[in-house]
Amino acid sequence: MDRFFNLKSYNSFGLNVVASHFASLESVEALKALMDEAVFKENKRLVLGGGSNILFLDDFFEGLVIHYSKSGWEVLEEDENEVLICAHAGTDWSNFVDDMVEKGFYGLENLSLIPGNVGAAPMQNIGAYGVELKDCFVQLEALDFQTGKQVTFDRPTCDFGYRSSFFKQGGKGRYLVLSVQFRLKKQGNLNMAYGNISDYLNEQGLENPSLKDLSEAIKSIRRSKLPDPKEIGNSGSFFKNPLMHQLVFEQLQMEFPEIPAFPATNNTVKIPAAWLIDRAGWKGYRKGDAGVHKNQALVLVNYGKASGRELFALAMQIQLDVNKKFGVFLEPEVNIV
Ligand SMILES: Cc1cc2nc3c(=O)[nH]c(=O)nc-3n(C[C@H](O)[C@H](O)[C@H](O)COP(=O)(O)OP(=O)(O)OC[C@H]3O[C@@H](n4cnc5c(N)ncnc54)[C@H](O)[C@@H]3O)c2cc1C
Repeated sequence: MDRFFNLKSYNSFGLNVVASHFASLESVEALKALMDEAVFKENKRLVLGGGSNILFLDDFFEGLVIHYSKSGWEVLEEDENEVLICAHAGTDWSNFVDDMVEKGFYGLENLSLIPGNVGAAPMQNIGAYGVELKDCFVQLEALDFQTGKQVTFDRPTCDFGYRSSFFKQGGKGRYLVLSVQFRLKKQGNLNMAYGNISDYLNEQGLENPSLKDLSEAIKSIRRSKLPDPKEIGNSGSFFKNPLMHQLVFEQLQMEFPEIPAFPATNNTVKIPAAWLIDRAGWKGYRKGDAGVHKNQALVLVNYGKASGRELFALAMQIQLDVNKKFGVFLEPEVNIV
């Protein structure tokens, strides 16, 4: 147990936040032992993975930060078509996807290079390039902080949605994810329909790309579009893309004919939040060390010494302004603590 632990390397905004208590543990037994201690019972708690989807408002976190570090993955079942994999929560997500691609297991390649750990991935049902975690998800094992018991959640009980799950809603703060199971295919169809993946592969002269080619293409596209948190503090997309009913969208379209939208489920459409923020004039904005990335309007950045409050204030200004200009509410994707 560490006292007054600096979380700078545990949050991708690079904020200098000190936690009054910090425990990095590698086994369920150690977690259960921690649950018996006063420090667990008497303090506010926060489970932290890689810290790439979190914004600390204050520079002091009065409470217990729990980091579960058990890493690695194993094959649980296998036949000629499929493989069932269990990955421990502390495994680096991006390395895990690389391992699956190396082994020739299909399903997670479009989620290459997403920062963070496996345990956090179900929290917001991570997604990219037309694929979401839920597409290959089988079940997860979690420790219930209320009962001290280990529980299994299958896909329906996780209640996955767009950048959302039961763990971000009703189950928030109650469970620590210990491991996640995925069913992957040994032969698969590559999903290249989204965005500019096919154009990129064609430019590279890859007409029949392999699993590895697709993963590498996605990594290159991501590197060219998104700032690396090691160089400039950020948390990826700060806001979710808003969903609205087709009829509401049609009204908005009358005023802004060039507004882009993508069909979603139940007569709804998804509007790129980046377009709204850009059109509202925020792209490249900077006040002090808090800003909006010059190429990616959806990414808020810490140029060095911004505080959590400054970044949050900027996010709220953007939220208000977009609401005023377009009548659309932008919901933060990042977890505010
Ligand atoms: C440059 C960049 C690009 C990104 N691109 C994408 C993208 O394309 N798609 C996407 O979906 N996301 C993206 N993200 C967001 C982020 O990578 C994911 O949300 C990731 O899953 C967060 O993992 P983490 O371990 O860093 O979680 P953390 O930030 O540590 O935690 C996130 C939330 O999960 C909780 N949590 C963490 N671990 C556990 C656990 N074991 N059990 C229970 N709760 C836990 C925390 O309490 C917190 O509420 C991006 C972020 C960055 C910085």
